[in-house]
Amino acid sequence: MVLLGDIPERALAVFAHPDDPEVACGGTLAHWASQGAEVRLVVANAGDKGSADATTDPQVLTERRADEVAAAAKVLALVGFDLLGIPDGEITNTIDLRATLVGLVRRHRPEVVIAPDPTAVFFGDSYVNHRDHRELGWAVLDAVAPAAASPLYFPDQGPPHQVTTLLLSGTLEPDAWVDVTTSIDRKVAAVSCHETRVGHDPDLVAELLRARTAESGTHANVPHAEGYRRLRLA
Ligand SMILES: [Zn+2]
Repeated sequence: MVLLGDIPERALAVFAHPDDPEVACGGTLAHWASQGAEVRLVVANAGDKGSADATTDPQVLTERRADEVAAAAKVLALVGFDLLGIPDGEITNTIDLRATLVGLVRRHRPEVVIAPDPTAVFFGDSYVNHRDHRELGWAVLDAVAPAAASPLYFPDQGPPHQVTTLLLSGTLEPDAWVDVTTSIDRKVAAVSCHETRVGHDPDLVAELLRARTAESGTHANVPHAEGYRRLRLA
């Protein structure tokens, strides 16, 4: 068990759908930002299919969800975010996506990158991890190790940058935790900004989020934690 107490100077969270980062690691991002870290976010998907209502206009939903990302970023005190606008369900680990991710890593120069663990396919016996999460996770792994640090990969995407630590969320094998006890309220508030997803029962969502971080906290001996599989790349 490792409790990650260090605050990175710069961190970059790369996730698929607009509400994924807040759910996965909102407490970590808010905690680091409050301690002076420059925290940025990349949201790869447009969120255009994130509705159970067949009459939804995907373009209108995309715009609403972009506004929700902006509102959540404010709550978390992020310094910025990038939206890649890939339609939901259409992320593929292509050379073009890797070039884009390498460019973002080289521009923002994070010590820590947080992304989905692509090796997690099944959660329990009733949930299949979304294809976008898996494909994006692989693309981030490939972009960060080794491409971003290797000058002959994507030479037109800026000077090489070595990410020090990769934290994979949504993992079946967590081995490192961040104490989010002081930032759990901001995590809940940030997730609540995603009104299109939270729906009419924000209290239930808040309860589920707190239950999940409390469960993770039992592994780290703190009241609330977010867990990751950690890779130390340098
Ligand atoms: Zn998602």
